Parts: sequence; structure tokens; C-alpha cells
Amino acid sequence: MKQEGNLRRRFLRAGVALAMFPVAAASSEAAAATNASLRASLKYQGKPEGEKSCANCAQFVPGATAKAPGACKIIPGDTEISPQGYCIAWTKKA
Ligand code: SF4
Repeated sequence: MKQEGNLRRRFLRAGVALAMFPVAAASSEAAAATNASLRASLKYQGKPEGEKSCANCAQFVPGATAKAPGACKIIPGDTEISPQGYCIAWTKKA
């Protein structure tokens, strides 16, 4: 009887752990989103254009570190803007 109860608890714990996995995976996907259509409209590229880069653009919202991806004020929903990226809306940071 006692073993049966332990087995049942383990089975339930495993089920809960598995049920939570897709949520965790979806959360990490949501955290790293891009806005492909606006990127295309603005001709975003993952490399600088001469001295112009997202890192020195007024629209850039830096990530956790200087090299980490950040966001852009005019590209909503995109959290993967490279500090070394560039687009045609580049505006010199004051
Ligand atoms: Fe980068 Fe363009 Fe946004 Fe400026 S406007 S941060 S250059 S994506």
C-alpha cells in the first residue's frame, strides 16, 4: 500500500513537471521575439553601416550588457536588436 502511494506521488510529480515544460519553452520563445515585417521595411541588418549602429542610435534600448541584444523604440515586439545592427531609421544619439 505504502509503495503504491509513493509510486502514485512520483507519477503525479512527473506529470506536473512535464506539463510545465511547454510553458517554460513558450516563455523563452516569447522573450526572444523579432518583428520581421518591420525589420524588412526598415532594411534592418545585423551589422553596422560605417559608424552608424544601433548602439549609437537614439532609438536603441540596450539589453542586459553592452553586447546583449536590446530593443528598438520604433520596432515594437522585437527584443533581438543587435547593438551592432543598423537600419534606415538610424538617428544619432544625442
Ligand atoms: Fe537600430 Fe534602426 Fe532601431 Fe536605430 S532605429 S536602434 S538603427 S533598428
